[in-house]
Amino acid sequence: MPSNQALAARATTGGLDRWGVFILSATGVATAACQRDQKVYRICKQFHFSAAHVLSQLPDTHPCSRLHGHNYTVEVVLESETLDENSFIVDYNDLYPVKDYINSTLDHRNLNDVLPVATTAENIAKFLFDRFKPQFPQLSKVRVSETPKTWAEYEESR
Ligand SMILES: [Zn+2]
Repeated sequence: MPSNQALAARATTGGLDRWGVFILSATGVATAACQRDQKVYRICKQFHFSAAHVLSQLPDTHPCSRLHGHNYTVEVVLESETLDENSFIVDYNDLYPVKDYINSTLDHRNLNDVLPVATTAENIAKFLFDRFKPQFPQLSKVRVSETPKTWAEYEESR
């Protein structure tokens, strides 16, 4: 096993990757192993709705086990390495099906009546991701906030 000094010498002579990061392998060989050199465009659009829910899986002593409501924020994130003929990933206006679905299905509803999952922010994010991924292949992440100070997100690696 090389000494730390030997590793440091290798690191200084081995060259840094584009982030200047060296990662030492199990054998002690310094390798520029950070492979995140993909370049992507990313856009985000925010939607809002108000709804009630209850997390009935929680004990009675938990405040979220009682019927209550939130002013939700949904953020959809789309990524692509390339742009379309208009230099967009997706035209924001083309995301109207998300707005339409949120307005017609989630807004001013009891989410427990309309969603097939426990209505945590995490599950709502995944539900919306799965609902719109087929329509928008560039969809990479959905984030759901119940309050200005909290969010949960669901993401699938490309
Ligand atoms: Zn809640």
